[in-house]
Amino acid sequence: MNIRKFTSMILAASMTAALFAGCKDEEVTTVPTTDPSAVQITETTAETVPETSAITTHTAEEYRTAGVNELNSVPILMYHRIYDMKNADTEYTGGNVDKDGYNRTSEAFEADLRSYYKMGYRMMRLTDYVDGYIDVPFGYSPLILTFDDGIRDVVLQGWNDDGTPVFDPSCAIGILEKIKAEYPDYNVTATFFVNSQLFENGEENDRKIMKWMVDNGYDIGNHTRDHVILGDCDADEITKQVGAMYKKLDEIIPGQYVNIIALPFGSPEKMGPDKPQYDRIFSGTYEGFEYTSKAALLCAWTRCYSPFVREYDNTCLRRIRGYDNGGKDWDIEMNFAQLNDGRRYISDGDPNTIVFPSSDNSSGDWLKTTYGHQVITYD
Ligand SMILES: [Zn+2]
Repeated sequence: MNIRKFTSMILAASMTAALFAGCKDEEVTTVPTTDPSAVQITETTAETVPETSAITTHTAEEYRTAGVNELNSVPILMYHRIYDMKNADTEYTGGNVDKDGYNRTSEAFEADLRSYYKMGYRMMRLTDYVDGYIDVPFGYSPLILTFDDGIRDVVLQGWNDDGTPVFDPSCAIGILEKIKAEYPDYNVTATFFVNSQLFENGEENDRKIMKWMVDNGYDIGNHTRDHVILGDCDADEITKQVGAMYKKLDEIIPGQYVNIIALPFGSPEKMGPDKPQYDRIFSGTYEGFEYTSKAALLCAWTRCYSPFVREYDNTCLRRIRGYDNGGKDWDIEMNFAQLNDGRRYISDGDPNTIVFPSSDNSSGDWLKTTYGHQVITYD
């Protein structure tokens, strides 16, 4: 990658940095008060250099104190069915409803959401993450929620006089709406990946619900028409499974669904030139309907890379399974313990900049894609 560096000294910023640096002994050595490069602004192309005033910058000391690092990892949670049960009602660990923990109790799901909030995570849309647009406040970390299969995620109880849906308070969206009202700064959102049966409230109801969802901060994506293992399908079958589902979404919520697919059973795990049929996951034409996918999600097991780094691969985004296993086997507790131990993406609050400690890109090629954003490093 050809990064043309220009170092820009922002006088006020560096003066403040110097001021802070003087307060702590250990900082004096790392941030010399006369070093103008404590905060470096790097731009990828000469053509797209924005006005410096258009972006928000902080001092190196402020970035350091908050631990700002936008090359670190992002949790994409994978949930399935949410059941109206207490944890004590299940035979399994924590809030697991089934042996493998794919389904979760309402009690545990609500507690999960409160826990992420307390740990300093704020929600964002999956589609924005795939576009490299991460908009969470300074010092906070992005959190992305996904639900597969649709079943028991959106359970309709009826309709209000004004045409808005009444949800079962124990289903996923019922709990999300409750949390949304309670924490206005959480930016509650989630992406629901559905098959042709949608949410199983009856086709007409589900069509109306989906319109309400996209107007109220939720996203709908593709989980194939029949929930098949795409890794076992030939090109025509993949085209049918992926294309028919997009076509259906386009009829119900034209232009408002996300062009992202959650791969049933996480298959195929690897795309590549030896399997050209897998290209149909990402583009094709089904019954005259042209479709594209800008990303594909695997089933589990751990945090996903920052969209800016070399290892990030939009064809196989990793997710964290929303389950309990006593802090082992990549459950929520284990994943968040790792994230919170210096691996989590911490935002600078400006979606148009990428900020990280310069040491994190000492190899020179860990930062790979900037999406046209301005790059700011600090020492
Ligand atoms: Zn599924």
